[in-house]
Amino acid sequence: MDKKEILKEFSSDPDRYYKVKLFEEQGFIRKSCLKCKRFFWTLDSGRNLCPDDADDTYSFIGDPPTTKRFDYTQAWKEVESFFVKNGHTSVSRYPVVCRWRDDLYFTIASIVDFQRVMGSKVVFEFPANPLVVPQTCLRFKDLENVGVTGRHFSSFCMIGQHSIPNAQGYWKDECVDLDFRLLTNQFGIKKEEVVFVEDVWAGGGSFGSSLEYFVRGLELGNAVFTEFQGELGKHTTLDQKIIDMGAGLERFAWITMGTPTAYDCCFGPITNKLFEKIGINSDSQLLKKYFTEIAKGLEKFDDLTEVRKYAVKNVGLTEDQVNRIIIPLEGIYLITDHLRTLIFAISDGALPSNVGGGYNLRMILRRVIATMNRMNLKLDLDELIDTHIDYLKETYPELNSSREDVKIILRIESRRYEESKSRMQKMASNLKEKEKAPSVDELITMYESDGITPDYLKELGVISEIPSTFYAKLSDLHQSEKKNKVQKLPLDNLPETEMLFYKEDPMEFEAKVLSVFDKSIVLDKTSFYARGGGQEPDYGTIGNFKVMDVTKHGAIIVHELEGGIPNEGDIVKCKIDSLRRNNITKNHTSTHILNSSARNVLGSWVWQHSAFKEADHARLDITHHSQLSENEINEIENVANSIIKKDIPVSIDNFDRGTAEKKYGFKIYQGGVVPVKLVRIVSIGDFDVEACGGTHVKKTGDIEIIKITKTKRIQDGVVRIEFVSGQTAFDYIKQKNIDNIKNEQESAEKEQSQNQRDIQKIKTLEKIPILLEQISRHTNGSAIIDEIYIDVKNSIKFCLSFSDQYNEFFHINFGKKLVKENKMATYVGVFETGDTIRIIVYSGEDASKTKNAGNIAKAMAEILGGTGGGDTKFAQGGGKDTSKKDEAINKAKTMILE
Ligand SMILES: [Zn+2]
Ligand SMILES: [Zn+2]
Repeated sequence: MDKKEILKEFSSDPDRYYKVKLFEEQGFIRKSCLKCKRFFWTLDSGRNLCPDDADDTYSFIGDPPTTKRFDYTQAWKEVESFFVKNGHTSVSRYPVVCRWRDDLYFTIASIVDFQRVMGSKVVFEFPANPLVVPQTCLRFKDLENVGVTGRHFSSFCMIGQHSIPNAQGYWKDECVDLDFRLLTNQFGIKKEEVVFVEDVWAGGGSFGSSLEYFVRGLELGNAVFTEFQGELGKHTTLDQKIIDMGAGLERFAWITMGTPTAYDCCFGPITNKLFEKIGINSDSQLLKKYFTEIAKGLEKFDDLTEVRKYAVKNVGLTEDQVNRIIIPLEGIYLITDHLRTLIFAISDGALPSNVGGGYNLRMILRRVIATMNRMNLKLDLDELIDTHIDYLKETYPELNSSREDVKIILRIESRRYEESKSRMQKMASNLKEKEKAPSVDELITMYESDGITPDYLKELGVISEIPSTFYAKLSDLHQSEKKNKVQKLPLDNLPETEMLFYKEDPMEFEAKVLSVFDKSIVLDKTSFYARGGGQEPDYGTIGNFKVMDVTKHGAIIVHELEGGIPNEGDIVKCKIDSLRRNNITKNHTSTHILNSSARNVLGSWVWQHSAFKEADHARLDITHHSQLSENEINEIENVANSIIKKDIPVSIDNFDRGTAEKKYGFKIYQGGVVPVKLVRIVSIGDFDVEACGGTHVKKTGDIEIIKITKTKRIQDGVVRIEFVSGQTAFDYIKQKNIDNIKNEQESAEKEQSQNQRDIQKIKTLEKIPILLEQISRHTNGSAIIDEIYIDVKNSIKFCLSFSDQYNEFFHINFGKKLVKENKMATYVGVFETGDTIRIIVYSGEDASKTKNAGNIAKAMAEILGGTGGGDTKFAQGGGKDTSKKDEAINKAKTMILE
């Protein structure tokens, strides 16, 4: 929808869309900006320019317009107490990992907390009306601005003021009135300073007018009145109108403090600590001037480099000042901001990785490390995490309990980064040699496939600037998951299937065939569990036909059959393979038990990533940073089996979604988003509570036993646990024991024969010197010593052995030593291995001149029907014709002695 068109339409009838009671009561004047023509409302008759174009833009820096000073924590207290005083319920923040929406990884606005997707429609579910919430939001689109502009954060607190106009809630008049009083009464801003700008909002098929409110050019909040749906002109009014007022808490703090940047008053003591460390005074006049110019520059230029140039020039900073003050300052802000984001994200169960939203987290941690390296800063991340959480815990007490977990994850991730550096360095230096700088797409590929961040390339001087579109592009790529296309079946006019597996769950029942198409049928009711939530479907029979697959399409269950198909209108007898179902059920409850066991053993970051439950095996993929150790596997298994031993009842209750979320938190969404209003909560005592549509045992004891069969790190940040339960587990253990015994026996036998061989070798080695001694004493004629034939003729000494008592090891060792001691000696060893006769020939230094070992081996091998060769001093050969053994030996004899 074209926002410009809507704005034009609404602004042409301001009385209807924008003029609230407050404007009338207070005497606000509606004006059109002399520069940009936008319409705004003000009490200052002299004001002719909209906030973006006015001269007083960002004049609050160094001169705050409020009577009181509040930092980030105090600012929220002021906002909260104001709204609570005025009838609002203060709701705790929702997780920054958006578990209740499968189209978002991270919570990007406060209104997202209350949106639930049902089919293609977004519905609103408010836990109270009206309400206010300090929602931490994560946005990775403009990371390059963070630390530089003074007002961009990778995570920020959106003050959400939300109302549905009904008996409890309110609409435009009261909303704007409240916001005005918040600024003027609670924060002490002069009425004349507040400017409301007319705007519109459109998204997700609906739209409405909005009023942005500014003080001194700083947009503090935007009240959106979502009122219509459809195309402009053909639009209708929504059944449920919504007020979505979002305001930046960081900005509220900033405007009261008038510090050079919003960072200076929103991170608590951490920034000052760091400034002290590097010796910067953040309160200097120079910085106030610089960041005021930055703010003005941001209105003038799109490109951040231009904005910086503009500010540097207008303030008259020298290059030395930029390098000494501005660049280190930006670095400190970046480190502080990114760490705060990581604390929120990891506390809420996200892990840095190279998949999904984890990409962004890994990216910002790597930016932190690269910045520290670039600035040569030796900072203790653990200490910074503590300082952050100590400050944040007043507003967000839940962060306190994940302190250690955040440290563990950051330690592991930092180490991983350092480990991958040498590889990254190599790739970077290759890049440096190329003439052309990498494109944005190439940079993205490099990060995705090798984890090389552009910050790192900048650190190494491969690129001079990070392209301004890089982070936006990366963030778009990893903002949401792609959904599977749903297959379209002819189910349009069919009623919902009565799901017996959620009721009495009979294993045999009768049902009526409502529809038949292809190989599939739809019944009026069924107890066949349809594939879903990682649970495999039930098999069995319908009529005389085998059930091959069962799937769920909305509230209609489709059975795929084999061998034939009943007719529409038939009453059919249905029978479920109950043994299979029982095994699947055990495995399903087991995944819940293992999931919580793994979380207890490993850490709070463990979530179910996905699961699969068949009758004879199952697997649970969990989010975890490293491969599991043997110890961890045993511990998880032990915790799981202790839960089975306790025989805890598994209870199933249906709750209204909002009630369930409130009662149990978002940990219930282990299996993903639940697209229905009524959620089925499966609780194993208070050990594990999950929203789940699967089948479950009555008591944990029914599972009997869980056995983990294999674990594997299947992707970055995800570990697969394969397991079996019940009888399958017993069978598995039994087979495993048999295998173990067999293996032990085999390895014992192996060891024994190896031992014997070793003893034999030692014996042989011991024997060699004695034999050599005896042989060297023999100087003429032939003799046999210990089955070695010796013949000496014309001082040529010929030795030959082919006795079974000598093996290859002997021939090699003996022959070598013999010819070393007797330079006129030649040695021939003959032995059998398998069906081959092998020959080893050594010829001494002097003998080899006339008695060529290579020739001898070759000649012998030829007789044996094989091949042989080597050099004059050492040769080998062999052949298979065992009947020619004597002939070969005689050949050697004649070659050597005649
Ligand atoms: Zn303007
Ligand atoms: Zn489940």
